[in-house]
Amino acid sequence: MTNNPIDIVVIGAGIIGVSTALELQARGRTPLLIDREGIAAETSRGNAGAFAFSEIEPLATPGIMRRAPKWLLDPLGPLSIPPSYALKIAPWMLRFWRASWADRYDHAVTAQTRLMNHCEAAFERQLSRFGDANMIRREGQLELYEGARAFEQAQPKWQRRSDLGIDVTLLTSPGDIAEIQPGLSRKFTHAGFTPGWFNTTDPQKWTESLARRYANQGGGFEALEISDLTPRSDHIELVTDKGKLQTKQVVICAGAWSHRLAAKIGDSIPLETERGYNTTFEHTTVDLKTHLTFAQHGFVMSKIGVGLRIGGAVELGGLDLPPNYRRAEILVQKAKSFMPELDVSDGTQWMGYRPSLPDSLPVISPSGAGDRVIYAFGHGHLGLTQSAGTAELVADLAMRANPAVDLAPFAATRF
Ligand SMILES: Cc1cc2nc3c(=O)[nH]c(=O)nc-3n(C[C@H](O)[C@H](O)[C@H](O)COP(=O)(O)OP(=O)(O)OC[C@H]3O[C@@H](n4cnc5c(N)ncnc54)[C@H](O)[C@@H]3O)c2cc1C
Repeated sequence: MTNNPIDIVVIGAGIIGVSTALELQARGRTPLLIDREGIAAETSRGNAGAFAFSEIEPLATPGIMRRAPKWLLDPLGPLSIPPSYALKIAPWMLRFWRASWADRYDHAVTAQTRLMNHCEAAFERQLSRFGDANMIRREGQLELYEGARAFEQAQPKWQRRSDLGIDVTLLTSPGDIAEIQPGLSRKFTHAGFTPGWFNTTDPQKWTESLARRYANQGGGFEALEISDLTPRSDHIELVTDKGKLQTKQVVICAGAWSHRLAAKIGDSIPLETERGYNTTFEHTTVDLKTHLTFAQHGFVMSKIGVGLRIGGAVELGGLDLPPNYRRAEILVQKAKSFMPELDVSDGTQWMGYRPSLPDSLPVISPSGAGDRVIYAFGHGHLGLTQSAGTAELVADLAMRANPAVDLAPFAATRF
């Protein structure tokens, strides 16, 4: 086997890994996609399905550490830290706080904007080459506010987006809001509408459709768990639950678990998980016209198939604690009070692990072992949105071509 290593292994078959394998294949490489479970088995399965190219602001906004304690004290609030995880998350929170300093925040917004512009163009390329246009809904997004004060506080964000050329319409009455989305509580007095936003009809099916395309073109997949990797002189050795593999290059797209593999080659990356919850209803009694974001409550409502999904929240609870589905119930209760006609019986609850770095930017980067091991993880709330763009950048790195975006802000060594 030493004489015939695999060309390139992609670890993780979420949306990042699947898109990467497909792009590598399109560039003439022969990837082997590996996942311990299957295609879209984790976070890429249950997300809200949004391609949110306008979401350029990191979570660590200036002043967030003043507002966070209030959220943490609210048991129904959008942010929670289980007491047993509070100490473990402290170093990440410190980095998060630093990332909220004005200069770092501005730097992150600039980097994210450049990446988003690339990702939007890359998505259209991916869609036209490999995707199914029937799986994309171009219906915009409505971000809702209760009262003029909350809306005014959000103005810097809307102004920035407008200055960057993002098409936005600001609405200042329940009547204007009802013209876009009827049936909402009149306590939502203000909103920002982003017509250019779009969603997939189902993120799991979208990922599976790309994986099918990859397989139909001869792409290989193996259900294996990778427990170790070691760079050797002319190959990388991977230890799997079914024996060893050798490969010339490897891309780590293992979502919220990626740092565990990076640590095996000596890279310490402060990846944490922002656990998120949702409930999916196979059918719905309301006619959702657009993707709804309840800005002050940290959750969204989106169409999935012929039903809908209500989800969001951030729980900084690590990879091992059991889910607390009370958080999903709270979101549904709130949604029902915001849209009284909603039938909320028979939903399916889910928790997913957003892979998150403190500065809300992903790692798209060669590893400390050079470009024989490439990292593509940490996309936080935006993995679906940034999947096609990330895949192109990873393929650039793997092919030793000039990446289309300056990757310094996304370097593994930036921490
Ligand atoms: C509630 C919620 C809503 C969201 N909504 C959106 C949205 O609307 N739009 C958006 O862009 N993003 C959204 N996100 C974020 C998005 O889902 C993630 O950023 C994205 O799915 C991450 O994809 P990934 O491929 O990196 O990770 P994953 O999908 O988690 O895939 C990683 C894969 O790696 C595998 N793996 C891990 N370790 C190993 C190992 N050692 N060996 C083999 N395999 C391994 C896992 O089995 C898994 O399949 C949301 C997230 C949540 C939780």
